Amino acid sequence: EHVPLRRIEGDLWEIPRHGGMKVPGRVYSPGPPAPDDPALQQVANVAHLPGILRWSLAMPDVHWGYGFPLGGVAAVDAEHGAVSPGGVGYDINCGVRVVTTRLDAEALRPRLHALAARIYRDVPTGVGASAAIPRLTSRELDEVLAEGARWAVARGFRAAADDADRCEEGGRLAGADPAAVSARARERGSDQLGTLGSGNHFLELDRVARIHDDAAAEAFGLFPGQLVVQIHSGSRGLGYQVCDEALAELAPRLASYGPDYAALPDRQLACAPVGSPEGRRYLAAMQAAANFAWANRQVMTGLAVRALLETLGVSDRELGARLLYDVCHNVAKLEDHLVDGGVRRVLVHRKGATRAFGPGDPRVPAPYRDVGQPVLIPGDMGRYSYVLAGTEKAMRDTFGSSCHGAGRLLSRGEALRRARGRSIARELADRGIEVLARGRKTLGEEMSEAYKDVAQVVAVMDGAGISRLVARLDPLAVVKG
Ligand code: 5GP
Ligand code: MN
Ligand code: MN
Repeated sequence: EHVPLRRIEGDLWEIPRHGGMKVPGRVYSPGPPAPDDPALQQVANVAHLPGILRWSLAMPDVHWGYGFPLGGVAAVDAEHGAVSPGGVGYDINCGVRVVTTRLDAEALRPRLHALAARIYRDVPTGVGASAAIPRLTSRELDEVLAEGARWAVARGFRAAADDADRCEEGGRLAGADPAAVSARARERGSDQLGTLGSGNHFLELDRVARIHDDAAAEAFGLFPGQLVVQIHSGSRGLGYQVCDEALAELAPRLASYGPDYAALPDRQLACAPVGSPEGRRYLAAMQAAANFAWANRQVMTGLAVRALLETLGVSDRELGARLLYDVCHNVAKLEDHLVDGGVRRVLVHRKGATRAFGPGDPRVPAPYRDVGQPVLIPGDMGRYSYVLAGTEKAMRDTFGSSCHGAGRLLSRGEALRRARGRSIARELADRGIEVLARGRKTLGEEMSEAYKDVAQVVAVMDGAGISRLVARLDPLAVVKG
């Protein structure tokens, strides 16, 4: 089936309102979008969501997902709208952080292998990875679910004392209710704090290879040749379980919430009114899972920093580790936005999309307020990743949102077929990139060719004024799930 498309300007396309769509779709795309791309049908489907405001948005890394596409953004009225677990995704608060150092990356090349091996040893990887730290007691888990990143900072897992202040939302979503998280989800989470997870998740040592914006780079503490650490992970089995249970609860009830709900074009859009008991319970559990994810990335930060200190034999001062920023890219968040000339409380679903608040916004940490928040966009393990800055235009046009990565180009199966008979690790090593992976198939599934070129994706965001290029990061060593 073909989705109607109309060019608005440059790389921005519209899916005009048709059928039961409440708002038009808007798609940022490198080149004309393919009208038969199933992800575009999903963008149109999301436009049916009760209470959706202005547009159903797709970022340039959009691809098919459960109900909602990845790379999708949907804001609904915080009182009268619907919250949808599929609009957040299974990996609640999957996100990215970058830790900066004072070290020159080239100078530590001889130690790179030892460093990667040490991180690989200390940070458990793989689907069922566990036991980075002793299993959490029920009380500790309650604290993690309520406190997020701060819990781990207080226990010494940190780059610097102010890490939590340098996370989106201070590394903690308000409203989280540990009691809304089921026993099964808690069981899955209690042994997984500080673990990376599978395939697409990574802990990477990168070199700042290019500065695109001197002033913003300086505000972000980035300089050419610098060693930085990039971490991509989420809420592990705990978040997955929260999403799975919410979908199972909401799907059969959909019609009971009213005709708008009954008329949704895809069961995978299962949702509930934000204010309903089920909607509130999901939000409280989702917020708790988001806090678990922040604590998870924070514990891994502590493990990685310790690995750097001990492997390189440098002092805290010499290392100068500091959290640049931490962003979520799978979340639904209550935020105030300017809608039709007035400030309005909205629930923004960002699924495979990154917050990109612009300059002057009080929700951006003080050191970055003049340039906009850091927007952290991983690319792939063989090419590069980018740091961008949020803009005023994003506030007006995308509810302060940007892309979240390169986006997949090949299915995992197709990637594996193309990797057959090759050694991806060898190919990367020949280009000076050390890679360690747990899964036997991970390297094939995750090779660069499996992803779009992130340079093209971020160029769309930069060209449309949704976020500005600040720096490019090139991989030196990659630890994968
Ligand atoms: P997702 O959250 O959708 O699984 O992944 C986000 C993005 O991370 C992907 O779209 C891809 O661009 C990027 N990515 C996946 N694996 C790696 C990796 O090993 N290194 C880097 N730098 N980026 C990766
Ligand atoms: Mn992710
Ligand atoms: Mn994830």
